[in-house]
Amino acid sequence: MQLKQPVTNHAAKTFAKHCIKDNILEAPYRNYGYTPQILRDRIILITGASDGIGRALARHTAELGARVVLHGRNVAKLEAVYDEIEAIDGAQRPSIAVIDLATANSDEYQALGDSIAAEFGRLDGLVHNAGMLGNRFSIGQYDAAQWQQVMHVNVTAAFALTQVCLPLLLKSADSSVIFTSSGVGRTGRAHWGAYSASKFAIEGLSQVLADEHTHTCLRSNCINPGATRTAMRLEAFPGEDRSQLKRPEDILATYIYFLGPESRGITGQSVDAQ
Ligand code: NDP
Repeated sequence: MQLKQPVTNHAAKTFAKHCIKDNILEAPYRNYGYTPQILRDRIILITGASDGIGRALARHTAELGARVVLHGRNVAKLEAVYDEIEAIDGAQRPSIAVIDLATANSDEYQALGDSIAAEFGRLDGLVHNAGMLGNRFSIGQYDAAQWQQVMHVNVTAAFALTQVCLPLLLKSADSSVIFTSSGVGRTGRAHWGAYSASKFAIEGLSQVLADEHTHTCLRSNCINPGATRTAMRLEAFPGEDRSQLKRPEDILATYIYFLGPESRGITGQSVDAQ
């Protein structure tokens, strides 16, 4: 499959048809083979980079030449990731952005946007990875305050950050926004409450953003990581055999594909990393 600029809906439709026809088995992203510096000099902001999938993705994008902005709420954990990246031979020095998505106000988002503008002048990738699971109750029992918090962290914060980053993303020659979905963001499941609803909302947010930027440099897509061995997965399925689960490091090809040059023109899609 060959996809070329300029960005058009045609590329996205061709991509979707290709994946459906091949039952996703030959989807170009999952076994994407890339060159060692595929993300050279790309400026990429990753939320929730302090742990799990975000942490593995931050390390790997840095290995591939990106200048990574590590977002999280826990300074000590972010500094540990910073040190890991500094230890990678040839990797560019990352930056750290501390914002608690549960409590941040618009000034904090704006300050992050301003500092990226001052330091880099543009943003090439924005990965909305941070998320919280929340309680696992039926809708009848679900605590309303908890509902609001999950929707806030998983959806409203992603909206606020996207809004602040938009001018920077539009200054890139080729920018990619990735939202993190879930299987329960496409089919509702009992007791997944606000988490499930928030992931449906993320799918919608990504599609709206994609549709608003069809004729620009910006693409927006959703990735469902699938079952992955992280703290969140442990919280959701404490009794399962974790040795059978993929590690965060094993599922990154799809993210690299959507952050890199070969996904230009593909927008409004939602794909599975496994
Ligand atoms: P982890 O719990 O390992 O990591 C979650 C990340 O989000 C951490 O960096 C965490 O920070 C950060 N975070 C959570 N709340 C906040 C907050 N209020 N402010 C700032 N940062 C916050 O989870 P995963 O790596 O598993 O999840 C990553 C994404 O993948 C999530 O969006 C999740 O919904 C999705 N997903 C995961 C699946 C899986 O099987 N693992 C399956 C499907 C989707 P801290 O380190 O401080 O806790």
